[in-house]
Amino acid sequence: MAVLKILRVPEQKLYQKSGAIYSFGPLTHNMVFDLFETMYAAHGVGLAAPQVGWMDRLAVIDVTCGDDEAARVVLINPKIIEAEGEQEAEEGCLSIPGWKTRITRSFRVRVKAKDERGKNFEMDCEGLLARAVQHELDHLSGRLISRFAMSNQEISG
Ligand code: ZN
Repeated sequence: MAVLKILRVPEQKLYQKSGAIYSFGPLTHNMVFDLFETMYAAHGVGLAAPQVGWMDRLAVIDVTCGDDEAARVVLINPKIIEAEGEQEAEEGCLSIPGWKTRITRSFRVRVKAKDERGKNFEMDCEGLLARAVQHELDHLSGRLISRFAMSNQEISG
């Protein structure tokens, strides 16, 4: 079990798409454990596997920063199947230390995923949790919040 090194921009792995996970076992369990440990050590509310160099569709979230074990969310091969409303807030990223940008995201999302044992589940998320889910899913597609800032600049000229 280990606190891993979090990759920072412009590391190329952060801009690549991750692949689906098909086998579940002790290795998956260890990956999830290490991701949580690394996320808590960095005081983050979410961490995606590619941020530690693993190109797998896996992310962990805990919007309570470790205060409530029941708030731990493990998302494997996740997909947003419903989204509604809007929320705008300043967002940061553990891979872009000391930098924040305002981003508009869906207020509510329904996400479909597998847990660390490979069991399918669906979850409704709102507010900060919905924001974290969208942020981490972006990482699995190789999208970073700095891309949002760039496209905003293009719009405003
Ligand atoms: Zn991030």
